[in-house]
Amino acid sequence: MRMGAYTGRESLVESRRMRILITNDDGADAPGLEALLEALHPRFEIAVVAPDGERSAVSHAVTFRRPIHAAKIDRPYPFFAVDGTPADCVKLAVQALLPWRPDLVLSGINRGVNVGNDVLYSGTVAGALEGAMQGLPAMAVSLDFRRAPDFAPAARFSAALLARLETAPLSPGIALNVNLPDLDPSDYRGILWTHQRGCLYSDTFTRKLTPDGRSEYFLDGEVQSAECLDPGSDGRAVLDGYVSITPLGFDLTSVPDLGTLPAAFPPLDEILGD
Ligand code: MN
Repeated sequence: MRMGAYTGRESLVESRRMRILITNDDGADAPGLEALLEALHPRFEIAVVAPDGERSAVSHAVTFRRPIHAAKIDRPYPFFAVDGTPADCVKLAVQALLPWRPDLVLSGINRGVNVGNDVLYSGTVAGALEGAMQGLPAMAVSLDFRRAPDFAPAARFSAALLARLETAPLSPGIALNVNLPDLDPSDYRGILWTHQRGCLYSDTFTRKLTPDGRSEYFLDGEVQSAECLDPGSDGRAVLDGYVSITPLGFDLTSVPDLGTLPAAFPPLDEILGD
């Protein structure tokens, strides 16, 4: 993803800072975002387009039945708070708000990991995947926390990782899903390249009765122990103290089944003949 590489004349191209569009799903005033801005500015050329409030677990939802508004926030770089989802923010940023096309879309730092099946619910990951859909390299960063979350070291690590990515062969259409353990980066055990696999939370519902006698339900999952999760999975890696990185695409096709299922199904005229 070396900037200017497309010219084939890098040495002649005046170098510029990497342009990063930042979004999240915890909201424009979230501490994970603020820590990231502090670590990235002014080393990188940044712009922020983030939801104007909490949008966790909205997945890849988009808004089109009502208008979307972008409130400009006074910062030394472009900063907009949008009354939409993370996917809205990235679409709007790339298509309408930004003065430049980003070199990378960065989503985070999320308060809590996004691993296994939960990746499908995550607004943080959706922000990065929307960047991938816009043809841009992208990365989501999420921080595990069992203590009070300390985003500053995670943000400094993210900045160091981004600096390395400037020369990495990061494909447009792929988002890196990075999950950081609840440790100081000097205590990380290493980086594991992982599969998105398994389920970190067990699904449980708490039932309560309202004063007028109706039942209401609260989704209230419990965290599984690390041993329940596959070695090689994103959740296991991060609970074991590793930085987990999973390259994600947005084509959900099960390629092995596409190879085997057609032979197991009758042709159309047989189905119509039934
Ligand atoms: Mn969140």
